[in-house]
Amino acid sequence: MRHGRSTGPIPRLLLSSALVLLFGGCAKRAEPATGAPQSADDDNAAPTATATPETRADPPGSVRVGRSLLTIVYEGGEPPLPREVIRDWIRRDAEMVAEYLGGFPVPSLEVTVISRPGRGGVVFGTHDDGKWIRVWLGTTTTQASLDGDWVLVHEMLHAAFPDLDAEHRWMQEGLSTYLEPIVRARQGTLSEQRVWGFWAEKMDYGRPRAGDRGLDHTHTWGRTYWGGALFWLVADVELRRATGNRQGLGDAVRGVLKAGGNGREYWSTERVASVCDEATGTKVISRLYAEMAEAPGDVDLDALWRRLGVVRRADGSVEFDDDAPDAAIRRAITASPATAR
Ligand SMILES: [Zn+2]
Repeated sequence: MRHGRSTGPIPRLLLSSALVLLFGGCAKRAEPATGAPQSADDDNAAPTATATPETRADPPGSVRVGRSLLTIVYEGGEPPLPREVIRDWIRRDAEMVAEYLGGFPVPSLEVTVISRPGRGGVVFGTHDDGKWIRVWLGTTTTQASLDGDWVLVHEMLHAAFPDLDAEHRWMQEGLSTYLEPIVRARQGTLSEQRVWGFWAEKMDYGRPRAGDRGLDHTHTWGRTYWGGALFWLVADVELRRATGNRQGLGDAVRGVLKAGGNGREYWSTERVASVCDEATGTKVISRLYAEMAEAPGDVDLDALWRRLGVVRRADGSVEFDDDAPDAAIRRAITASPATAR
């Protein structure tokens, strides 16, 4: 991956994701989209996670990623693309998620692909209980729609975090919102410039507005999705600052999974914070929780971008300043594993 100065417009696919997030949640409810996500136009490298051949006992058309079995169900008639293409897309996204997490987060998952009348690509997704994902494909879904899709990755990431009480939904939605572009950038299906440009534009929605309380107490769209994403971004950066960039949010989430906290389980936020802290040998998550969830702690985004070396240009694109004090942290968050260190 490149770390030099380069620019690009804010991608339509990311703007599209923001609009999707504007209209709803998905942990238990449908997540509507406004149109087909656009294909990422660069770095279309194949995922590096190794595929495991299906065994004879696996259902036909299923996907095995490591020890996890993903079965695929079709509803609404034949999908808009051949089933092998759909299966390859599901496999690719599962492998990307598995690479970030050190394995697919649940032992099995049923993905229902629903052919939906009307135009559009990957238009909708839901996740339930770490067992089921439903995803709707419009009639104009193309290979490019699948290549640039973020919805399925977002839903799969929900399977990698325990269910929480409703007032903490920001923590679940924020994690999927924050990690989804990272997972794709690390595998080269989305450029680092696009990810940081997107965040530089959107993270501001997550800051507390006048009268807002902590994330546990103010449940607007901005605070739920982007407040949650901002919480996890700050957590990622602070974990890396506290550990000399040796540990990040991925280590905390893997710690939660190792303790059994996937989408099939119900946890308290106290347990989440304590397991994250234990996994990273820090107090970062519990301290941030007190600051941003229980109290309306604000984040100085201009200072954060400056330290990370994310320089916004007038046209909305970003360039990177590799001399910034936390430039190495920025690189470690979104670079592919082979080039991050
Ligand atoms: Zn979601």
